[in-house]
Amino acid sequence: MLQAVDDTGHSVTIWNMPRSEIPIIRQRALYCPVCKESVIVKAGLRNIPHFAHYRSSECVHSGEGSYHEHGKLDLYLWLKHQGYQVKLEYYFSELNQRADMLLLIKDKRIAIEYQCATIPIDQIVSRTKGYLEAGILPVWILGATKMKRTGSNSLHISTTDQSFLYQPHPSLPIRIFYYCSETKRMIIYQDLLFLTNTKTAGTLQSFALERLSWKDLFRPRPLPRKWFTTYWQHYRKKWPHRPVSPYQKKETEWRQWLYLRNLTVHSLPDYVYLPTRFQYLLTTPPWVWQSLLYVDLFQKKERFTLPQATSLLKHHIHPPAYFPLVSNRNDPVFEYLQLLVRIGILKDNDQNHYAVNRTTV
Ligand SMILES: [Zn+2]
Repeated sequence: MLQAVDDTGHSVTIWNMPRSEIPIIRQRALYCPVCKESVIVKAGLRNIPHFAHYRSSECVHSGEGSYHEHGKLDLYLWLKHQGYQVKLEYYFSELNQRADMLLLIKDKRIAIEYQCATIPIDQIVSRTKGYLEAGILPVWILGATKMKRTGSNSLHISTTDQSFLYQPHPSLPIRIFYYCSETKRMIIYQDLLFLTNTKTAGTLQSFALERLSWKDLFRPRPLPRKWFTTYWQHYRKKWPHRPVSPYQKKETEWRQWLYLRNLTVHSLPDYVYLPTRFQYLLTTPPWVWQSLLYVDLFQKKERFTLPQATSLLKHHIHPPAYFPLVSNRNDPVFEYLQLLVRIGILKDNDQNHYAVNRTTV
């Protein structure tokens, strides 16, 4: 924390305080503005002076280390230099919640959270919803220490971090932001496709913070995705041969399920397992739910409806409430069926009614 409160509730700011005044501050009784516990002063030579909770604290703001403090201050100054009205560590009394900063743009309130620690999904969702219900837009920027890069344009995004996926408008691509307070770079990752439940490929761009404006975060930056087709073809070909340990219970169960239907992972057609944008809404890997549609729908029925397909997968879908910052119109099943229409596997009469193309299935 860069601010604490004293006995009378007055705010005490420490990050911009001259070093000579730090010993005086150390003598004072100061408290966390949120949990009201006593806090201590941390002012090592390499760090920004800040307040910290005692180790035993259970406050949501404990455990925010120097990486977090640096980043929070960088982002605050970055916005300030762009002429915005911004308040550091702003406490929303109506929510009993503190944001890393509040940004005011005209009559719009934006809460910016620089999240470096891992917090449970329920907490992410309840904080986000609290803001949205109060008419505040939350923008989460994750610490780059949370970024798990697997290639020049691919990231592993844990299922918990998927709750930070953000879509400024239903017509705009989904994105996620990371900031590194050591290299002072903002990473914008957008337009992602899921290859597994957590493995994604998308457009990953890194910018020096000083070269970026606030508005740049929301701009679509489509890049040609030709590389992906080649990458996918290679990946999909290798996929059936990947080693599966007997400890991967779900995978083993799925293979048994195939076996009972006289199928193997090698005999599945290519279109069972296509990458989709909205995979985050599903609890099972793409090949599992897509093969279920293949076996129980495309092979058995001449015609079917979108609700029939969705209902087959009702035990595979996450509550949409887990993803409060993306459009609730995103539908992975519809997306997949439309992909199959495009490659001639299905025909659609309208968006709800499909017929199986028996010449290809
Ligand atoms: Zn606290």
